[in-house]
Amino acid sequence: MHSKKKTRDSTLKGQWQLPLGAPARHSVRDEYRRCGRPNCATCREGPGHGPYRYAVWRDGQAVKRKYLGKA
Ligand SMILES: [Zn+2]
Repeated sequence: MHSKKKTRDSTLKGQWQLPLGAPARHSVRDEYRRCGRPNCATCREGPGHGPYRYAVWRDGQAVKRKYLGKA
């Protein structure tokens, strides 16, 4: 298999792969999540786990979001 697709994987290293279905116009947000465990020190002492990166965009009336990975 020798496909010469124009991938720029090497230059995209460390960046985020645009999720399937996400339009070119989207915003990226880093968010912290709480795991909900009552004795979790990470959540108790900070904003939570993360940050995790999300792509967020509008699809008509709906706001769509897709998890991209740990920021
Ligand atoms: Zn936690």
